[in-house]
Amino acid sequence: MYPNVSLFINGKWQAASSGRSIDVFDPATDEKVGTVAHADKNDLDAALAAADAGFKVWRKISAYERSKVMRKAAALLRERSEHIAPILTTEQGKPLAESHTEIQTAADIIEWFAEESRRTYGRLIPARVAGVRQVVEKEPIGPVAAFTPWNYPMGQAVRKVSAALAAGCSIVLKGPEETPGGSAELYRAFHDAGVPAGVINLVFGSPAEISEYLIPHPVIRKISFTGSTVVGKQLAALAALHMKPSTMELGGHAPVIVFDDADIEQASMLLARAKFRNAGQVCVSPTRFMVQDKVYDDFLSRFTAHARQVKVGPGLDKNSTMGAMANERRVRAVQAMVEDAARLGASIKAGGERIGTRGNFFEPTVLGEVPSSARAMNEEPFGPMALVSRFSGKDDAISEANRLPYGLAAYVYTRSPETADLMAASIESGMVSINHHGLALPETPFGGIKDSGHGSEGGTEAIEGYMVTKFVTRLNV
Ligand code: NAD
Repeated sequence: MYPNVSLFINGKWQAASSGRSIDVFDPATDEKVGTVAHADKNDLDAALAAADAGFKVWRKISAYERSKVMRKAAALLRERSEHIAPILTTEQGKPLAESHTEIQTAADIIEWFAEESRRTYGRLIPARVAGVRQVVEKEPIGPVAAFTPWNYPMGQAVRKVSAALAAGCSIVLKGPEETPGGSAELYRAFHDAGVPAGVINLVFGSPAEISEYLIPHPVIRKISFTGSTVVGKQLAALAALHMKPSTMELGGHAPVIVFDDADIEQASMLLARAKFRNAGQVCVSPTRFMVQDKVYDDFLSRFTAHARQVKVGPGLDKNSTMGAMANERRVRAVQAMVEDAARLGASIKAGGERIGTRGNFFEPTVLGEVPSSARAMNEEPFGPMALVSRFSGKDDAISEANRLPYGLAAYVYTRSPETADLMAASIESGMVSINHHGLALPETPFGGIKDSGHGSEGGTEAIEGYMVTKFVTRLNV
């Protein structure tokens, strides 16, 4: 049932010109389930030539027509959800229900960008001189090189491809080699919906080789990357060297501040749901929990109870509410962080261990009284791990929230409007969600500051990143 994934270049699925491929494994069973083609320089040249030609075609198609094609792709994804969800689950590990959500959300995102493409307005600036007409136009920036990771095989790709298509750009996407099926199914939907040959191209291979070739290439005009901060900094530097703008959606280490006037049961339930979604492999996952003294014990015991109710198992099993982690690297990284925190005095309230020897299963883990020197309090855990510590006053909470170089998402629970306003204004973060988990809607900005990157993957800001401004002034003679 799992497809062998090819490259998609100039409107055709094709094997790598070298014939090379990479094996794809199911993280729930460790079994090989398929292969993905490994592009080399010849394939990249073909993808670049296609994107160059595709841009010239796509930019001339009216936004109205582009929008219709995109909406059709969204409808196809919805129709195909039953077929695609097991592919996402097999390659990535997440429960089937989460795969369905990823597909439905992808369709929502495409539709929103399709609508928004018809609103990429310019403006008219009143002139100082009679007979002069000053126009600000928005034009597509050109062919885009994009790089997406394995945690949301479809969800990460869809934001970049949709924003590029809405703006009138073509794209070469390097999808995630470990989870290639999600981006391939996304491409299939766009192709079947009528996106012309060359406009969207999909490659896989050696990430560093591909990014080092695509980013400096003169055909490419914009870079978009989602992944770790360390890689993002390298790619942003390379883009800057070649004077190309970039959108960087990088790591996070989201602080969660629970005040003693919050609805503790509601907070613990919502936060546990958010924490263990996708086994914690989410850039906006709630991570550093700071709980005010008076409610610390109550919150910790309720949150721990919710964590214990999570049913870990193969994503294809309908009873599982948390699947395998996507790869062995993360299991080892999370295990090492738990051991380090425990050594430094944290108490393990739930989980803390790998489950079994087959597949990458890890227990939903809750650590209490975690000292800020623990590695997990400083590096992104990117796993099913909640780190809970206590605070007394608002200033303590703010300084802990802002202690790290990350600034992606932050969560606050309080019944006080004054406290909510103060936190929203004081936390250095691209997104702040107060009393609910309200991030990542297609129509809202999605992005970070500081080491979490720059630019947006949602809202009107996302399309802006794929457009350039042209000022035209004309004296009528
Ligand atoms: P990694 O840093 O090796 O890779 C992260 C992503 O970047 C992968 O998709 C990888 O293919 C890609 N990549 C790596 N080197 C590249 C290069 N030179 N050029 C282009 N792409 C490149 O780490 P990993 O083990 O795959 O993931 C671990 C860390 O990555 C996590 O701890 C997390 O911080 C981060 N991550 C973030 C997100 C996100 O949504 N922001 C998603 C996945 C991973």
